[in-house]
Amino acid sequence: MYNDIIELSKRRGFFWPSFSIYGGFSGFYDYGPLGVLLKENIIKLWREDYLEDGAIFIDTPNLTPEPVFKASGHIDRFSDLACECDKCKTKFKLETVLKYNGINAVPKNLDEANEISSKNNLKCPVCGNIIKKVYDFNLMFRANDMYLRPETAQGIFVNFKLLYNYNKNRLPMIVGQAGKGFRNEISPRQSLIRLKEFNQCEIESFFDPDSLEFGELYDYLPVKLLPNTGDVYKKTVKEAYESGIIPNQAMAYFVLKTQRLLNKIGIKNEMLRFRQHMPDERAHYAADSWDAEALIDDEWFEIVGIANRTNFDLTNHGNNSSESMTVKIGEKEVIPYVIEPSYGIDRIILSVMSQSFYKRDNGYNVLALNEYVAPFHMAVFPLLKKQKLQEKAKELFSNLFPKDKYIIYDDVGSIGKRYARQDEIGTPYCITIDFQTLDDNTVTVRFRDSMQQKRILISDLVSQENPLSALNALKIVQ
Ligand code: AMP
Repeated sequence: MYNDIIELSKRRGFFWPSFSIYGGFSGFYDYGPLGVLLKENIIKLWREDYLEDGAIFIDTPNLTPEPVFKASGHIDRFSDLACECDKCKTKFKLETVLKYNGINAVPKNLDEANEISSKNNLKCPVCGNIIKKVYDFNLMFRANDMYLRPETAQGIFVNFKLLYNYNKNRLPMIVGQAGKGFRNEISPRQSLIRLKEFNQCEIESFFDPDSLEFGELYDYLPVKLLPNTGDVYKKTVKEAYESGIIPNQAMAYFVLKTQRLLNKIGIKNEMLRFRQHMPDERAHYAADSWDAEALIDDEWFEIVGIANRTNFDLTNHGNNSSESMTVKIGEKEVIPYVIEPSYGIDRIILSVMSQSFYKRDNGYNVLALNEYVAPFHMAVFPLLKKQKLQEKAKELFSNLFPKDKYIIYDDVGSIGKRYARQDEIGTPYCITIDFQTLDDNTVTVRFRDSMQQKRILISDLVSQENPLSALNALKIVQ
């Protein structure tokens, strides 16, 4: 499945390795013409979903001066334990080498890592040499006295007071930022899973520390939940909060919101789970973390991290800058607490694509993307490359286009090839003009998922304010 997606993505224009004419550099991927549309659609769903909660948005620089990351703890603590083979010079994450050598231990710091390494002769997974060099590897890219941000969040924290003022001094305050994050990953892998430059959509929600509550927990589909006690549950998020599995209401609210948003994007509920971090697994700023994980083939990958960052970041920026991060709520002065759902858009894209992919009995590929994220809503074809049919098809295309820009015209290759092409890029509807159209102004609508066809009047489509809704309605009465 994963390999099918990688092949399809390159051939059809979703994504491919960057700079490949110079040999390719691991950890960098380009989005092609279809990938750009898919990505924008997902970001739009994210933004609209948070607008429903009254979120405000901000856009801050990628390059960030050193004092910001000194205060946030990233310069001292945003690192991975790494090791390097003296012989073949390959660099690894230490956990990869420990796993390769059958060692289960998870060292918490460099001292523990050195102890484990000196007790066990760690063999290099590439050349078999004994690895001696273990070190802390900071994941940030440095450019003179600046760093490329490893998360968009700090751009929100340093602006807290301006945003709070904009928000009329009210908490809770929900702030979002969509942008790039950069991490000098030691072993970039699996295409969009671990990139050096990636796309994040982050939400920082600020609360009165005495009232970590937000919105309403409503009934929704049960989902797999793995708290760090080792238990496994299938419950609604509301039940999980009521039975104490998720410890605070605001955290439960964002888990629920994330579940629903990911389902809407096209992550299947049965291929989604929420896993709580073990205490020694959490980032340096987090008091509690739950990851949304999606299944790709038979492996689970983190796609969204939901962290309780307490007032760690605001306190540190308050102590190290000229701005106080304290706010007054009634008589008390507090530094707000933050719950952060952080969405990795690249991993979401890969998950949605692989979970939507299947092969028909004839071996043809289908990408069953839903209409919210599909690059195109519909394709318009002339049955054959005959002038009259082409003219009629172009006329239909130009009548539909002002109402829906996500329409594609195609007259290249046989009709069967064109259906197959649209199935493979996730287009839910194909509309074909044939000889009968010239007589009675009807067209054939072909549904991607059922492959059924239905004849309708052109006027029933073009008279609609929203042609996509008209096609959806047809699908329902099929
Ligand atoms: P984190 O701040 O590590 O919790 O990251 C938040 C989200 O960003 C994760 O859930 C991932 O989806 C995504 N992410 C983090 N690092 C990378 C990376 N190197 N490449 C692609 N996505 C990433």
